[in-house]
Amino acid sequence: MQKPPLILTNVLLFSVTSLICLLLVPLEAITNGFDSTEIIACIVLFWFSGLSITAGYHRLWAHKAYDAHPLIKVLFAVGGALALQNSILHWTSDHRVHHKHVDDNDRDPYSAGKGFWFSHIGWMLREYQASRYQDYNNCRDLQKDKVVTWQHRHYLMLTLATNIGLPVMLGWLNGDIWGMLLLAGVLRLAVVHHITFFINSLAHMWGKQSYTDKNSARDNGVLALFTFGEGYHNYHHIFEYDYRNGIRWWHFDPTKWLIRGLSFVGLTSNLRRVPEQRIEKARMEMQLKQIQSRVATLPNARILSQRLQHEYELLAEKMSAYYDVKKHRLELKKKQVVEQYERLDLDFKYRELKHAFMLAKSRWLEVHKLQISYT
Ligand SMILES: [Zn+2]
Ligand SMILES: [Zn+2]
Repeated sequence: MQKPPLILTNVLLFSVTSLICLLLVPLEAITNGFDSTEIIACIVLFWFSGLSITAGYHRLWAHKAYDAHPLIKVLFAVGGALALQNSILHWTSDHRVHHKHVDDNDRDPYSAGKGFWFSHIGWMLREYQASRYQDYNNCRDLQKDKVVTWQHRHYLMLTLATNIGLPVMLGWLNGDIWGMLLLAGVLRLAVVHHITFFINSLAHMWGKQSYTDKNSARDNGVLALFTFGEGYHNYHHIFEYDYRNGIRWWHFDPTKWLIRGLSFVGLTSNLRRVPEQRIEKARMEMQLKQIQSRVATLPNARILSQRLQHEYELLAEKMSAYYDVKKHRLELKKKQVVEQYERLDLDFKYRELKHAFMLAKSRWLEVHKLQISYT
């Protein structure tokens, strides 16, 4: 089959920036060195452009995981142009198709099933998706967003102003235009590019399938360190509307912290979170599935499998009892009309069921661990 034609602008962009990073940046470092202003500018623009993609393009526009003040939207639109990953409308259109048809080699624009190179960068080098970009009909909602349409219309001007104009101006102020252009301009751009591309490639290949095995997405704490928190990609693919990707407080997810932080000063609102019970249920179902598939090959598979199923049902029962009372308690608290004795009674029941659920959970985890090491 004949390959679609090359997209020359992209081929040139990626080759020229890579060559500059491999040859000219080290040469400049050896001959003139980089001063602290250049390094700080590079780091600041790195975070600004990276977070504009993850918090803006991805979680705000593609998944509508929260609402943002127009000022924040403009900042993300400018930062997204600085990241040079196409307009919000274009990026979001691709990403929504990715979620809808994940791993479908014909429809997922960056399907990991077509290998590392393709999902990382190859998909952008040829006109694989040309027919899809006529009207961005999977982003009708965004076509009403003034910031999105403004950025789309002035995308070229914005990318030139942020990627060339801004470093040139900073370099001029600092007394060395070339050094600033190399470090805060090109090196920063290439690093943010590949970091974001890793989410399409590595995050679909390396890590655990903690919540679902219906697609190739993986959870990987190491990858999260390099991707502004987007390494928890298995969770993200099952609960894409959650503003968090790393759901535990210790999970490194600076994008989540930024969105939450901005909500304290009123710049973001309606942060969407998946109810804890649904998350727990998905995780436990996945654990059951993993153990079931492991014991399936053993001689006494049928008995073991029944036992596991029984254990799981006990756990599920405790879990739903706990979450039911938790929900009820929260509802009553909101109404603030509960009698003292009723509240005490409910608090007691809540603690009791929580304890029972925690016990059942640790028992289940023991069974999980034992089975894994046994098989
Ligand atoms: Zn993905
Ligand atoms: Zn996504």
